[in-house]
Amino acid sequence: MDMKKKGAPALVPCPDYAPETVRRALEAAIEAAGGLDWVRPGMRVGIKLNLCAAKKPECAATTHPVPAAELTRMLKERGAEVVLGDSPGGPFVAPLMRRCYEAAGLRLCAEAGGTLNEDFGYTEVDNPEGKSLKRFAYVDWLRGCDAVVSFCKLKSHGMMGMTAAVKNLYGVIPGTYKSEYHYQHEDPMRFADMLVDLNEYVRPRLCLCDAVEIMEGNGPTMGTPRHLGLLLAGTDPYRLDRLNAALLGIREKEIPYLEAAKRRGLLSQEEPELAALAKPYALRDFQRSGATASWFAQSDEDRGMRRVLKRSMYVLFRSRPEPGKDCIGCGKCARDCPAHAITIVKGRAKIDRRACIRCFCCQEFCPTGAMRVRRSPVAKITGR
Ligand code: SF4
Ligand code: SF4
Repeated sequence: MDMKKKGAPALVPCPDYAPETVRRALEAAIEAAGGLDWVRPGMRVGIKLNLCAAKKPECAATTHPVPAAELTRMLKERGAEVVLGDSPGGPFVAPLMRRCYEAAGLRLCAEAGGTLNEDFGYTEVDNPEGKSLKRFAYVDWLRGCDAVVSFCKLKSHGMMGMTAAVKNLYGVIPGTYKSEYHYQHEDPMRFADMLVDLNEYVRPRLCLCDAVEIMEGNGPTMGTPRHLGLLLAGTDPYRLDRLNAALLGIREKEIPYLEAAKRRGLLSQEEPELAALAKPYALRDFQRSGATASWFAQSDEDRGMRRVLKRSMYVLFRSRPEPGKDCIGCGKCARDCPAHAITIVKGRAKIDRRACIRCFCCQEFCPTGAMRVRRSPVAKITGR
């Protein structure tokens, strides 16, 4: 069992999804991250899962139902009322969400005493402390909870390098608003600041990460499952994702939201002890979903010539979406694209490169995996 002092992010080996194995690992990880003594009888706890699409657990795209069900049991044993859910891309409506619940095997959570969310309302909330998001649409089912637990899945991601604890909170925004916010935050660093704003607003009481089976390659929905055999827990989403980045062998500079958290003083420059914690399990050959070129992404601190230079370098290094020959011309990407940059021509998706903002929503939600992230030739040559 590998963990650090109480309160720090912890990782615990969990070789499979057998309920007894998961329960032991989950208890150990949560205890190492500070425990559940904050849970009071009658408290309403919202478990924000990653249900990015209607995917079966074996696809490794969604939080696995067994850890979610075991967490539900642990919270119920302490007298909490537990509600679980998410808001994937597309309309935030009952038929879509029920398909997601069914595919993800969440009836296990209902059997454990949890309620699968059926409230699809949202409220515009003010966020005056936000840097990038001063006001946003917040799903009512989480807004009404006494505490939020974020239970993410560790996966590759085209725009942010990886998706885990911090990115998981993008799902507190109802589906169709997500496209709009993508469009408003075209630059990866601005998008990253928005994710940090959401984490600072919601402040999950506990962050958990299902890294038993992770996803690599064409993530976050159509990549390849890979065994890592870990469950992680922490109370700080940035530190938890620092640990996740070390496990995947991704430099923090390449994860815009970790850089954004550092710039805002929410994450220290480095924590060698977390790198050491990850080292025995770290992957040397994790397959990424493109390259984010985030070290050239702009921040508000960049001015003048530095701003111009960074923009030019970013354009040279950034990845782009590209439909493969296996595109069936279904048009889903065209409907999801916030920039309206896609048309279907002769039965295949065609992208207007000048309009594309590189949000990779099309790649994330392509039902066949035909839309892929292509690294720029410059990034390939330089190994970036
Ligand atoms: S969603 Fe995928 S399969 Fe459908 S048109 Fe777009 S690229 Fe082709
Ligand atoms: S084409 Fe794809 S990556 Fe480009 S703006 Fe549209 S959804 Fe985003």
